[in-house]
Amino acid sequence: MIDAPSASELAQMPEVMQALEQAWIDSEPGNRSKRHEEGGWIYWDQSTNAIMILRAARGMKSRIDLETPPVFKHKMVIAKFHTHPNPSSEGWDTGPSQSDMIYDEEDGVPDLIRADDGLHFSGPDRRRGGLNGNPGYPN
Ligand SMILES: [Zn+2]
Repeated sequence: MIDAPSASELAQMPEVMQALEQAWIDSEPGNRSKRHEEGGWIYWDQSTNAIMILRAARGMKSRIDLETPPVFKHKMVIAKFHTHPNPSSEGWDTGPSQSDMIYDEEDGVPDLIRADDGLHFSGPDRRRGGLNGNPGYPN
């Protein structure tokens, strides 16, 4: 079994960090009325051994739907990411929500969450079952 990169390995990759920063900016964290979640998926392309990042449709104030990643031949979903743009200074919990934890465990890939206090991880440390199985989520 070939292991997928772990959440912390992904967080070292410049293209992953860049995608998280862009999602953070697009979340408009500084705009009280417009702030909303953004996110997407990280794929492993088995033919090039490179990652590919895809953004999901914009989310709501404190919710985003990442449950149906587009499926591509030879591209496995190895992680998902999203933002929590609501500030800790206003009492928001910046870490994974209860529903994040439930979905992330079920979907079987790590979830990288960007908030105003940095990066949080949720779900398994790396794609469950390695780089095998379904091209979408491993389950
Ligand atoms: Zn969340």
